[in-house]
Amino acid sequence: MSTTTLCAFCESLPERSALHAAKIVRCPLCKTDLGVSPAGDKFRVVAVTPAVSHRGRNIAAAIGFAASMVLGAIVMMMAAGAQNPVANTPSKDIASPAPSAK
Ligand SMILES: [Zn+2]
Repeated sequence: MSTTTLCAFCESLPERSALHAAKIVRCPLCKTDLGVSPAGDKFRVVAVTPAVSHRGRNIAAAIGFAASMVLGAIVMMMAAGAQNPVANTPSKDIASPAPSAK
């Protein structure tokens, strides 16, 4: 909550509100609160201050929603790729000319 110096690990983590955390752990190095999402991703817990207006909150929600949509799309693309490894099968053109051209 106060001004603490983050360790290198925590500094690399994205910031999210505690609302996204399935559980909250504490970094053993810098004592920063770390949230763990239901998917297992770790992030730095930032307090949602009352100064943040509804507009800012909506923007943050929209960004989070877009990020989750992109992530979902990537996962679905990877799943589809795993099921269908050869997606670009070469199309057979009519390449062989007819021998009776004369
Ligand atoms: Zn840390």
